[in-house]
Formats: sequence, structure tokens, C-alpha cells
Amino acid sequence: MRIGIGYDVHRLVRGRPLVLGGVVIPSEWGLQGHSDADVLVHAIGDALLGALALGDLGEHFPDTNPCYQGISSLTLLEEVVGMVRERGYKLSNLDSVLIAQQPRLAAHLLHMRRNLVDVLRLDLGSISVKVKTAEQLGSLGRAEGIAAYAVCLVTPHPL
Ligand code: MG
Repeated sequence: MRIGIGYDVHRLVRGRPLVLGGVVIPSEWGLQGHSDADVLVHAIGDALLGALALGDLGEHFPDTNPCYQGISSLTLLEEVVGMVRERGYKLSNLDSVLIAQQPRLAAHLLHMRRNLVDVLRLDLGSISVKVKTAEQLGSLGRAEGIAAYAVCLVTPHPL
């Protein structure tokens, strides 16, 4: 078994769509970024890459490449899942936490997990997404951005 950790943070700006776990969340504020800036999916992708010491998303999908402009991060995650499989591993389970002062996200967590089921090809019971506020502490607590952490376990899988 191998374990991976991922972390990401994006700034909240007015007038961008807010996409988390592939769910478009009604909000006047969205995350700034080159892709759809889905901070949860970025943390998950980094955790998967990290489990196999393959670097991070920024290395594989650089924001200097125009073909990643506005791309769905779930599409990038699908590519990462393929890389894990090619190396003879499969994802066993995933846990993650969003740190978001606002908007309230609890009602969207199941939808995010269902999106991840499709991309990760894993059952719902092996995919955890949680949310915390920042207790109004620091920049995240002032809702200047949203952060995410993810950890995953991968196990050898015959090719
Ligand atoms: Mg990111």
C-alpha cells in the first residue's frame, strides 16, 4: 500500500463560477484559476500523484499551456487516474476536507462524492468529502479563498 497527501488553495473573486468536486455552486464569488479552479479536485489529484511520487498537477498540466484554460478539473483527474492504473496501482480509498468560511457547502457534499465515484471508479463508501469553516480565523476565515486537503491510499492492481 502507498499513501498520498494533497493540499490546494485558491482565491475567491467576484464573478467567477464556484466549482467544487465538479458541482457548480450558486455563489456571487468563485475561485480564481486557470482551469475551473476546482480546489477539491486539485487536492485529490495531488494526493493520487503523491502516492506514487509522480509530482503534482502543476507539473503535469502547467497553467502556461492554453489547452488547460477553463478545463474541467475532473477531466484532469481522469487522466491522473489513468496514470495510477498504468503504473499498476488502483485507488483504495480517499478522504478529503474543504475549508470554506462561505458559502455553506454541506448540502452539496453528496453530489461532489457522486461526481468523484464516476471519475475515480470507486464506490461511494470509499470516497469521503467533508467541510469545515475556518472559524473566521485568518485569510480563509475572511473568505478570501477556499482550501482543500486530501489523503488517499493506493494498492497494487494487476494491469
Ligand atoms: Mg489548484
